[in-house]
Amino acid sequence: MHEKCGVVGIALDDRDAARPLYYSLYALQHRGQESAGIITHDGFQQHDHVEMGLVGDAFAPDDLASLNGANGIGHVRYPTAGSVDSSCAQPFSVSFKSGSLGLSHNGNLVNAGEIREELAELGHAFTSDGDTEVIAHDLARNLLEADLVRAVKRTMSRIHGSYSLTIMHDETVMGVRDPEGNRPLCIGELKDGYVLASESAAIDTLDGELVRDVRPGELVVLHDDGSGYDTYQLIEQENTAHCFFEHVYFARPDSTIDEKLVYDVRRELGRSLWEESGIESDVVLPVPDSGRAFASGYAEAAQDAGRDIEFAEGLMKNRYVGRTFIMPTQDERERAVRLKLNPIKSTIEGRTVTIIDDSIVRGTTSNQLVELLRDAGAEAVHVRIGAPKILAPCYMGIDMATREELIGAEKGVDEIREEIGADSLSYLSIDAVAGALETSESDLCLGCVTGEYPYEIEGEETDRDVQRPVIGGGEVSADD
Ligand code: AMP
Repeated sequence: MHEKCGVVGIALDDRDAARPLYYSLYALQHRGQESAGIITHDGFQQHDHVEMGLVGDAFAPDDLASLNGANGIGHVRYPTAGSVDSSCAQPFSVSFKSGSLGLSHNGNLVNAGEIREELAELGHAFTSDGDTEVIAHDLARNLLEADLVRAVKRTMSRIHGSYSLTIMHDETVMGVRDPEGNRPLCIGELKDGYVLASESAAIDTLDGELVRDVRPGELVVLHDDGSGYDTYQLIEQENTAHCFFEHVYFARPDSTIDEKLVYDVRRELGRSLWEESGIESDVVLPVPDSGRAFASGYAEAAQDAGRDIEFAEGLMKNRYVGRTFIMPTQDERERAVRLKLNPIKSTIEGRTVTIIDDSIVRGTTSNQLVELLRDAGAEAVHVRIGAPKILAPCYMGIDMATREELIGAEKGVDEIREEIGADSLSYLSIDAVAGALETSESDLCLGCVTGEYPYEIEGEETDRDVQRPVIGGGEVSADD
């Protein structure tokens, strides 16, 4: 089970949180299109509305009007290929002896199975097979015996994997980021309250100010009246494991993540791509929209180096076609690329072209595009990719593909070039990624491009000395 999502939490002085939550979810729509949900609390009781589909379709005006209360959390869920399962839609809510709990999760636990088994033996009944419910039950159980901060700390010491959470305990809204800081989460200030969101673009949408990123291992508790927040550094870890792919593909270019504007990082990666593997051609074309910032950085670096390379639009995107990536069959995926992208002949015919995209996963997009450009009269087609070669799956919450489906899992760069039919192909180095993010490789999660993960995952290698928590016994002590 993979959870690939956007989360938000809001505490306001005395206006309903439903609308700001709804607008934030709109801003985070790119992080999940399968379902959308909001839970609010009015000081007496919880209200929720969770629906399959896009944010704009999931909430009617009446739904928003019934979500009373100045505090709430929200969630958009990413689609997984194939089955669509409403039992996994979020926020997840549960009532228990000491109140109500709501949870929105972005990330993926690698030991949820063990904790689920243990809790099931203790009599907890599960309604979904997602790992969010496991966190919710574990936290509910800890809350019976400990205060809020201790209960969260206990749950954090048991769960292993990636998680950015917004949590609501009765009307108190909190945010938690896993000790490695794998998925993003940030704090924003509004004129009458505070917000926690996966990406700062959600805060901008509310005319708020980004305060800062939530730190890895930190719990942020918003004051119920929107007047401020308390923070607790619950777990300290020597190294972080920020997901580099958030900056490369997943996040919005106008978001700031871990103090870096995503757009600037992508432009910098594009510049490095020219420095590492720039090639002469008449024109540089971005693959819209994901390749845009990379291509502009690449073309700018080429022009700075005195090359006479035009930067132009050569592929038009039909914005009404959904994501081709998640089409269940290969045949549908190929057709969908054609539906989505159409060449502009005048920039291509009789010319040598370089196309720039952020990543190659299965190879479907590049393969189709090279053919499309040749059909449109390109004399040569070079492909440059703004990320290293993806050779292993993501277990940390980004829906990529299985190892068997990844074109880079077994094949070398030249074999891939041949398969996609390009005249030349180059990827970016891992060094360049760490350089653009101004960090070291040991503070990044590079699992999909190295095959070594920052968490202990059964059957996979790890790149660090990690201790998977030992679950079992069912005992909780009052003072940890
Ligand atoms: P593919 O066609 O399978 O090689 O996928 C590569 C294309 O999908 C690129 O244009 C990427 O921008 C995009 N992409 C990369 N990762 C993902 C993802 N996790 N979900 C959806 N699209 C993606």
